This record gives sequence, structure tokens and C-alpha cells, in this order.
Amino acid sequence: MSAELIDYDLIVIGGTAGGLSTAISSIRSGLKKVRVVEPGAAVAFPELVPENQVEVGYGEQLLGIDAEDDVVIVNTDQRTYRTRGCLVSRRHRDPNWTPPINAPLSEHVTVDALPEWLNDRDVLVVGHTNHAAELVAEAAAGGAGVVFAAGGLDPAKLAPAADAMLRRLERERRITVLYRSVPDEIGHDGEFPIAYFNDRRTPDLEFDHIVFASERCRPTVGELNVSQAAIDSGKLWFDGAPEDGIDVPNGHSWEVGNLLAAACFPELEPAEPPSVVRRRVRHESAINELREESYNATITAFEQRHSDLWVLRVRPDHGDTSHLPGQYASLGLGFWEDRVDNYADPGIDSKWHKLIRRSYSISHSMFEASGYLAPPDTEELEFYIVLVPADDDHVSALTPRLATKQVGDRIYLGPKVAGRYTLNAVQSPDTAVVFFATGTGEAPHNSMVTELLRKGHTGPIVSTVTVRNWQDLGYLDAHRHLEERFPNYHYIPMPTREPDVPKRYLQDLIRDGDIEMALGGTMDPSNTHAFLCGNPAMIGLPEEDENGETSYPETTGVIELLVERGFTIDRRNQPGNIHFEEYW
Ligand SMILES: Cc1cc2nc3c(=O)[nH]c(=O)nc-3n(C[C@H](O)[C@H](O)[C@H](O)COP(=O)(O)OP(=O)(O)OC[C@H]3O[C@@H](n4cnc5c(N)ncnc54)[C@H](O)[C@@H]3O)c2cc1C
Repeated sequence: MSAELIDYDLIVIGGTAGGLSTAISSIRSGLKKVRVVEPGAAVAFPELVPENQVEVGYGEQLLGIDAEDDVVIVNTDQRTYRTRGCLVSRRHRDPNWTPPINAPLSEHVTVDALPEWLNDRDVLVVGHTNHAAELVAEAAAGGAGVVFAAGGLDPAKLAPAADAMLRRLERERRITVLYRSVPDEIGHDGEFPIAYFNDRRTPDLEFDHIVFASERCRPTVGELNVSQAAIDSGKLWFDGAPEDGIDVPNGHSWEVGNLLAAACFPELEPAEPPSVVRRRVRHESAINELREESYNATITAFEQRHSDLWVLRVRPDHGDTSHLPGQYASLGLGFWEDRVDNYADPGIDSKWHKLIRRSYSISHSMFEASGYLAPPDTEELEFYIVLVPADDDHVSALTPRLATKQVGDRIYLGPKVAGRYTLNAVQSPDTAVVFFATGTGEAPHNSMVTELLRKGHTGPIVSTVTVRNWQDLGYLDAHRHLEERFPNYHYIPMPTREPDVPKRYLQDLIRDGDIEMALGGTMDPSNTHAFLCGNPAMIGLPEEDENGETSYPETTGVIELLVERGFTIDRRNQPGNIHFEEYW
């Protein structure tokens, strides 16, 4: 061991995906003296070394790690380094690890070991870790045709170098990644192994070689000969906690570079790492696989009434969209989709590959291009949706993702249209019908009003909707047009935040007689049906306690006012003339 100390900013022990990532990000942040100490003859992704001018000591064995005056001293069989920061990112093979599926190991089915001769061989790599990405890159560099069965892989959890390498290999079509697939058995057809996937997506495939990427062990502090002074220095970091559980600063490969930089190099501008969502979205083929698997419909129209209020139309791939006016369907997008804002969904790591589903009333454009009233659509469904902005208390999930979509994009549409919020109870054409909505709660009413008018309803129809501003009335022109064509139809929009409009609520329309004026007579419960949709506070559903006592919410809702006038709530086993649909 040489006594001469050589000064470095950062020494990385182990040229693994995690180690290279930290070395590269540190060099890019401006550190001048960075060295990777690699005991073997090669690092994980050799092509990244010259590209990023990484200094590597190949075949250099670590002897121990110490610290003096807040500086880490790294001893190897070749030199002694004095460094401001040190990262241990070495991994060992765990001899006890076996594949988690039935896979008899052989010359052609191995753990961690690639065949010597790779050129033109078909190789399957099975795994979901940085180590699996290392094996994939090594096989591809050797000229193999590589399929990577990466079921369970979370692209956001890859070390940045592994992430970049996989995306590059895919872009250059040097590998095929099956992000969602993992074989559940390995068999043999004569000499060569076959991977049986037993899922709809992936056919059974024969390979020259199948290699499983093991879960490897981290070295212990004891094995590395680390002194207590080094542990206490705060400048020695581990990629993942060391195996003997000794409390040393550590972090996962995808974040440890940033943590270490913040702790050891305060002079560096902290690099803003891409958000977890962005890291996943960059893996386009992973996302495409999830989309292909989950989505079954296409967005055929996406009209912005304003930036946060949309009328969209959705066409399913199969099946028709028959429904009764007033019913709802479910729409879904994956948690993997990008958000329009910078909020992070709580618990996203465990659900990023899952679908978010929400119910949406089916709306309706009142007129066809010809000017006739439009019949219910059987090929597409129209929806009227508002962005629910996320805030610090609640991170809304679906609408901030829907906001990034456009015509032609794919979406999930639930197979069944549902709901008993329909016109079934309106049996006679001279019945008075009154609709009360908040915001996009007018969606089902638009379908119902069109249906009533199309069928020649003669009784008065009043549709009221409360919004904040005029611009929040997405169908205003169509309603005005309907009023011109049908004298028995009245639309009463109620913006509450316009300076020239007195602030009134739907409840005031009942109290002050506006509804009756529009109906041209009293609100007679014997010949009137009321439909209430949207904000539960407007609806004001009473609660019943165990003694059958009814209590209304503190703020009077429309139901309370209607019940005072002799109306009754329509329930599943008790028909009435107040129908409601709560949006939350
Ligand atoms: C039967 C049914 C039909 C529905 N139809 C529609 C529809 O036609 N158009 C529509 O925009 N929404 C509709 N919704 C609401 C919709 O299902 C979602 O709750 C809404 O889009 C928010 O989803 P998110 O994932 O973005 O937010 P989430 O994380 O689910 O947040 C839910 C919260 O958002 C708020 N919220 C939900 N809906 C609205 C809304 N419309 N306006 C303002 N704030 C709201 C409430 O505070 C609610 O607690 C309907 C709900 C139901 C149950």
C-alpha cells in the first residue's frame, strides 16, 4: 500500500449500474476528480465510460475505508485516496438464490452467468432489477438477440444509468423488453430451453440461453473493512443499506447520487432529478404495453370549453354504447400517465401500473349537424368533465391526467353503462320536469332534456345550473337554441361569481318563485318530477338514524325545500318524484 495520499472529490467502489450512475451524475454536476474502483475487468455499461469520461481503476481491490478530519481515506491494493465523498455500490452473488419459478438449471439455463459465446444467440434475461439490466446490456454488447422478461420492473426504480441504457438499447432495436411479462415455467425442447409465459400477451418462446438475474447481496461494513471513523464521517454512503444493518448513510440507486451530492458537495447546484412519473413515462414501451393492455376505447373529440372544462367523446373498440339518458359510464387512465401538474399521488409506487377509474354521466350534444335534435348515440359517448385541481390536502387522480389527453389518445371505457338516474318515472308527456345541477352535473340533464323534447314532451321543462362564471357553462349556446325552438323549455344559468349577476343559489330559485315562473304554474308534486345532480351539498340528502328519525344537513339543500312542498325522494323500493345523482 502506498503512503502517498491522492486527493479526489468522489471515489465510487464498484462499477455497477448504481455506482456508474452516481459517478456520471457527479461529473455532469461539475466534480472534477471522480474515480470508480472496480475489482473486475469490466464495469456494468462499458459504453458509458468513454462517453462520460469516467475514470475507472479496473482490477483494483479495496483494502479498507477510514476517515480523518471529515475526509474519507480509501485504501486499495494500488493506491490510497483522500476523498470528500465515497459511495459503496458493490454487489455479491448470493449463492443461495434460486429462480422463483420451476426452472431446472443447466448449461443453457443459468443464474447470473451468460454464455461465453453470445454473438447471434437468442438470450432471454429474466428479472426486474438493475442487475437484470446489466445482464441485458452485456448480452446485447456481445451480439446476442436479447429478450428481457421484465415483469415487475418499475422504470422509476432503475439506477439512472440502467434506465438510460435500457432506453437506448430499445431505441436502437438491440433488445426487446417485455415489461409486463415473466415466464412461469422453463421447459426444454430437446437441447434448448423454452419459456412458458401462460399469459395472453406473450407466446411461449424457445431460446439458446435463459439467464435469471439474481437478487444480489450488498457487502457488509465488516467485509469492506470500514472503520468507525468512516462510519461517523457522514461522507461514506452505501447504495442500499449494508447487509449487516449498520447505520451508514444510504439510499436506493435511483436517488443515492442526489443524496450523496447534497451531503458531501454543498457547493454544487442540486440537480433537479426527473419526477418519478416522468421517469416512468420516458420508458415509452413500458407505458405502451400498459396502455395496450388496459385501454379499449379512443378519444374522438376533446373540446375545451376553457382550459379546465372539457366536452369529450369516446368510441369503444367493440360493442355498442346503448344507454338510457341520465346513466353513467366509467372512464379510466393509468397511474402511469403523466399529470398536468407537479403533484405526486400518495402511494404511487405501489400502484403506478394500475388503472384509475371514475364514473361519468353521459352527456349529449343536443343537435345534429343537420339541425335536428340528436338521437342517443350508439357508437360514441359524450362526457362533460371538469378538472379537479390537486392541492396540498387532496391529490386528485384522474382529471389531472385527462387534462394531458387529446384526440386520438386511448382510454379505458367501462364495459357497462349503469345507473337508475333516468326518465323512467316520467311517464306522461304533460308532466313538469325540473332539473337542478351544479357545474358538470348538467351532463345527464342534457341527455334527458334532448330525449324529452325529441319524444314530443308537452309539459314544461326547466333546467337550472349553478356555476362560478359564465365561461363555466359549456352548453350555453345549445340551451339558448333549444329555448328558441321549444317554448316549453327554459334554461336558467346561475353564475355566482360574476360582478354584474346577483349571487343566488339553486335553493333561492325555489324560495323566490323563479322555478314556478319558468314552469308557468305551481310546482305541483302530483305532476312534477325533480332531478338533482352534482354537489351533494346542493342536493342535501337527509340522513336517517336507527330510530327512523330524519335529519337534514346544516346547509339547506334542494331536497329539504322540495320535501317541504310535498315532494318525496325516489328510492329503490319506494317510488318518488325527487331523483338525485351525487358526484361525490
Ligand atoms: C355517478 C357519477 C357520475 C359522475 N359524472 C361526472 C361528470 O359527468 N362530470 C364530472 O366532471 N364529474 C363527474 N363525476 C365525478 C367523477 O367521478 C370524479 O369524481 C371527478 O372527475 C374527480 O376525479 P379525480 O380522480 O380527478 O379526483 P378524485 O381524486 O376522485 O377527487 C374527488 C373529489 O373531487 C371533487 N369533485 C368530484 N367531481 C367533481 C366535479 N364534477 N366538480 C367539482 N369537484 C368535483 C370532490 O371534492 C371529490 O371529493 C361523477 C361521479 C359519479 C359518482
